Amino acid sequence: MSETVFSKIIRGELPANIVYEDDKVLAFLDINPVNPGHTLVIPKNTETRNIFDISAEDWLAMTKAVHHLAASIEKATGADGVNIMMNNRESAGQVVDHPHIHIIPRFKNDGLKPWHHAAYKDDEAADMLRKIREALQ
Ligand code: AMP
Repeated sequence: MSETVFSKIIRGELPANIVYEDDKVLAFLDINPVNPGHTLVIPKNTETRNIFDISAEDWLAMTKAVHHLAASIEKATGADGVNIMMNNRESAGQVVDHPHIHIIPRFKNDGLKPWHHAAYKDDEAADMLRKIREALQ
């Protein structure tokens, strides 16, 4: 059981600006938005924390809701695009231990910096590919 601020929102013990709800999923405005309209999509199931322990069923319900919401959020905010992202574990920026997908409206020249990218060197890509394929077995 992961008891978090989101559990309280699910139970109606904390207020939230609910954007969308179905039997498995809740979506509400982030209290501290990157840009206005920034929305969080969460499973109502409070048993899990992130991508590593969520069920495929809850994950599918979340991504279905994200797919449903993204175009309306872009339209309503007048955004030029959206980022769909999820932080998993503290090192990846996860603060609330309840699975949540961020839908972040983006605007031309909104000043947000893109991720840093760097090319692989020598055999790094081949080594990484081998490790991931091994981990998949
Ligand atoms: P993360 O860093 O991926 O764990 O994101 C957690 C997000 O939850 C942050 O963007 C917070 O602004 C947001 N947040 C925390 N508390 C609330 C709340 N009570 N209502 C809405 N959003 C919240």
